[in-house]
Amino acid sequence: MRNILNDTLPELTAWMTEELGEPRFRAAQVWQWIWQKGARDFSEMTDVSKACRTRLAETARIVWPEVVTVQESRDGTTKFLLGMEDGAQIETVLIPSEDREGNRRWTQCLSSQVGCAMGCTFCSTGDMGFERNLTHGEILGQILVARAHLGDNRPDWPILRNLVFMGMGEPLLNLGNVMRALESLNNDRGLNFSPRRITVSTCGIEKGLRELGESGLAYLAVSLHAPTQELRARIMPKAARWPLPELLKALAAYPLKTRERITFEYLLLGGVNDGPEQAHQLAKLVSETVRGKLNLIVYNPAEGSPYEAPDEARVLAFEKILWNHNITAIIRKSKGQDIKAACGQLKAANKTLNT
Ligand code: SF4
Repeated sequence: MRNILNDTLPELTAWMTEELGEPRFRAAQVWQWIWQKGARDFSEMTDVSKACRTRLAETARIVWPEVVTVQESRDGTTKFLLGMEDGAQIETVLIPSEDREGNRRWTQCLSSQVGCAMGCTFCSTGDMGFERNLTHGEILGQILVARAHLGDNRPDWPILRNLVFMGMGEPLLNLGNVMRALESLNNDRGLNFSPRRITVSTCGIEKGLRELGESGLAYLAVSLHAPTQELRARIMPKAARWPLPELLKALAAYPLKTRERITFEYLLLGGVNDGPEQAHQLAKLVSETVRGKLNLIVYNPAEGSPYEAPDEARVLAFEKILWNHNITAIIRKSKGQDIKAACGQLKAANKTLNT
C-alpha cells in the first residue's frame, strides 16, 4: 500500500487526480494535513470529503518512522533512534541554541542514508558500512517526529528553525531523494523551510554537486578536515578519490547567491591536522579559491577511535592563525557528547548491537 509520505506534492496530485479521480485542490489539502498539521490518519482530515477519506484509507497509508528511543543530553541535545518499516534504524538529533537576542531555537541534524559507504576514519556511521538510501518520507519523517516531540515536551521552546543534512550518510549519494525532499521542504503548503535555513553537508562528491548548487534549494557545507590531498587521503580515503585541487576548482565555480558563502567543516583531530603549519595551509587554500567560512569542530573521541581530542591551546592557536589570514573561523564544540550525539558519533547503536 502506498505510503503517501513518499510523495512530493506534484506526485500526490498526479496520483489523486488520475487514480482516485479527485480534483487537484484535494491533494493540496491532504498535503497540508500531513506536513503542516501532522495528521497520522486520514480520519483527522475533517475538511476532506468523507468519500475521499474512505478511498484514501483503502489505498494509502501515512507511515511515520517509529521512535525506538529518545535520549536527552545534559546540554539539552536530544537524540532519536528511529525504526523504519523494514527494521532499519537511523539517528537524528535536535540541537538547542540561543541567538544574541536570547531567542531559543532548535537545529535538526537529519540522516539521509542507513549507514554510509564513505568510511571516513573518524566517523562511527562510516564504521557501520552502507545499508540503503532513505526515502523521501523517511528523510522528512524525521522532522515530523522531532516536531511532534517538541510540541509534546517543549511547549516553552517549540521552534524548529534550521535543518542540516549532517547525520548518517552522504546526502549527494542519495541525490534523487534528497533533492525531492528539498523541493518538498521549500513548498509553502508543506513544511515550508526557506533554503537559507537548510544546509546540505557533503564530504565532496563530484556527481550531484552542480545539481544541488543550481537548484538553490539549500546552502552548502563541505567536510574538508585536511588542508592537503595527502592528509585528506589518510583521514577520508574514499572522499579523497576526488582530488582536493579538483574539489576546490568545482567549489570555485559553485553558484552562490549574493552574500552566500560555502561553509567548510574542519574536524580538529589531536596531533593529526591541528598544527600551525596546517592552519596556514588551510588559510591559503580557502582564501585563494572560494568564498567560504570555516567551522572548526573539536573532536570528541568515540570508543575505540584511533584519534584523540586536540589540545585546547592548539585549537585556539589554529583559530588565531586563520583569523590573522582574514578567514572567518568559528570553534564549534560538539554538543550531546554524553549521549553520543556529537559529530561523527551517530551509529544507530541498537542495530549495531544486533549485527
Ligand atoms: S563523515 Fe559523513 S561521509 Fe564520512 S563516513 Fe561519516 S557519514 Fe559518511
